[in-house]
Amino acid sequence: MHCPFCQHEDTRVIDSRLTEDGSIVRRRRECPQCGERFNTFETAELKLPAVIKSDGRREAFDEHKLRVSFERALQKRPVASDAVETAVRAVVHDLRRSGEREIPSMQVGELVMRELKKLDQVAYVRFASVYRRFEDVQAFREEIERLERDLPAIEGLQLPLLDESRPKGRKQ
Ligand SMILES: [Zn+2]
Repeated sequence: MHCPFCQHEDTRVIDSRLTEDGSIVRRRRECPQCGERFNTFETAELKLPAVIKSDGRREAFDEHKLRVSFERALQKRPVASDAVETAVRAVVHDLRRSGEREIPSMQVGELVMRELKKLDQVAYVRFASVYRRFEDVQAFREEIERLERDLPAIEGLQLPLLDESRPKGRKQ
């Protein structure tokens, strides 16, 4: 590393130690040319990517918003809050691991769907129907059918779901 005082192109590490919690390495350096000493700090880069919204605007990733999305989809569903927290952590972990500086909101939505699918099928379809903005009833039906193929164990899913999707106060 260059010396910040005289710009000499190399400096020597004379001491290196970890902070108490082990998250930062602090190095003491010395310039062989001017003799100045200075510290450097090394930390893992764990910044979450910014989210690119559908209108092209960027916004900082917001874990609270992510949690609210899960909670909204899982409203009145029999899913423990621990399981929701695990799902939120899994999405944040994947975003962090992506190493991307920016990520389309669609991609975040796909991660949410992946987790909801594991947690609760009704919540998954609820989220997906809003998120993917199914263009018509047919597209929605296909998604339900695909789900039923993927999860043959879940019977009777279709009826309550279609009930929920029907506007309130109207009978067929
Ligand atoms: Zn120097």
